[in-house]
Amino acid sequence: MRNFCVVVGAGLAGATAARILAEAGERVLVVEKLQHVAGHAYDEFNDDGMLIHIYGPHIFHTNNSNVFKFLSRFTEWHFYQHKVLSYVDGMLVPFPINRDTISQLFGLKISTNDVEKFLRREVENSEFKKPPENFEDVIISQIGRRLYEKFFMNYTRKQWNREPKELSAEVAKRIPIRSNRDGRYFSDRYQGLPKFGYTKMIEKMLDHSQISVLTNCDYFEIAEELKAKLVVYTGPLDEYFKNVYGKLEYRSLKFVFETYEREYYQPVGVVNYPNDYDWTRITEFKHLTGQKSDKTTICYEYPLEQGEPYYVVMSEKNMYKREQYMKEILKLEKTKEFLFIGRLAEYKYYNMDQVVARALEKISGWLKGV
Ligand SMILES: Cc1cc2nc3c(=O)[nH]c(=O)nc-3n(C[C@H](O)[C@H](O)[C@H](O)COP(=O)(O)OP(=O)(O)OC[C@H]3O[C@@H](n4cnc5c(N)ncnc54)[C@H](O)[C@@H]3O)c2cc1C
Repeated sequence: MRNFCVVVGAGLAGATAARILAEAGERVLVVEKLQHVAGHAYDEFNDDGMLIHIYGPHIFHTNNSNVFKFLSRFTEWHFYQHKVLSYVDGMLVPFPINRDTISQLFGLKISTNDVEKFLRREVENSEFKKPPENFEDVIISQIGRRLYEKFFMNYTRKQWNREPKELSAEVAKRIPIRSNRDGRYFSDRYQGLPKFGYTKMIEKMLDHSQISVLTNCDYFEIAEELKAKLVVYTGPLDEYFKNVYGKLEYRSLKFVFETYEREYYQPVGVVNYPNDYDWTRITEFKHLTGQKSDKTTICYEYPLEQGEPYYVVMSEKNMYKREQYMKEILKLEKTKEFLFIGRLAEYKYYNMDQVVARALEKISGWLKGV
């Protein structure tokens, strides 16, 4: 009898899917290969008693009130507006670029009205291909070469180990530039972190009489024995299909944590280092979590070629492979016995709110028989 659903992975995609299915009366088995739930949103207290994010800093931000309402059922919030500074020319300047960034870097007294004029002049004085052909052109076409070189050129080289010219124009989105003095990193309506951490919030999502969670278990080792009416898969796309169209590449990261016997290490939660040192950024968790302590834990982030999969590599080769896998997914999803959701299963960079929205949408569709 196929009378239960299997959810592979206990990250935000899996936990959202499991919860919605359980609340609709389905019995759900969540299978997670790690020893803990929460996937990349996992946080824990380290030996110094500081709450840290093991897979890099996670700040929740969304304009989607349904997603915010849904998650608010499982947590209270520490309301926090994220701030990032960039270490450029020996100074800590606001990032994304705003009026203060330009004033500080170029020693200019500039009004809000003049910022656009300033940027237009910067672009006019720069050479690039029109229409933009690659990542470099897209950025220069928006802010000019000087700002591109200070904030984006070396950061991109560090992060991707490629020349910005080799990256496709699609990778570069519209850069948020603020002509005012707004120093926030995000401008979404809802921003913050779960008051007691992401792990606690996700544990609560999974705490339902219809849900059983099996950690430390690779789905593929037990898949044959599970005769489920629905499999919600949130693991790596290529692994599901035994790499038939080839392995999908990811860029990885190494995190190095250090605790200091002082109240604060840096003025804001994240400082980017586009040009100096080998790390790309330093995070100080206390700023994010609001935790009070006379100690502080920071984390250096180093890009890596191989390792835990973090960032999708948007090369033509990978996008072509993805397309082949997505066709297979479509066929499987048509049977109504499978759903593929999340950053790994769709080989797509998603923010947390997007993953939750995607799971809410796909599971509700399945429940309605769509
Ligand atoms: C460095 C970094 C910083 C980020 N910061 C932010 C941020 O500030 N704000 C934001 O909104 N988003 C951020 N994100 C994105 C965020 O991490 C993702 O949107 C979110 O965690 C994706 O959830 P998921 O459930 O799709 O994937 P995951 O969290 O990866 O969960 C997938 C789960 O499936 C499990 N799994 C895989 N294969 C199997 C298998 N065979 N059997 C059993 N289990 C399996 C994995 O162990 C994992 O637990 C960041 C991402 C990175 C890389």
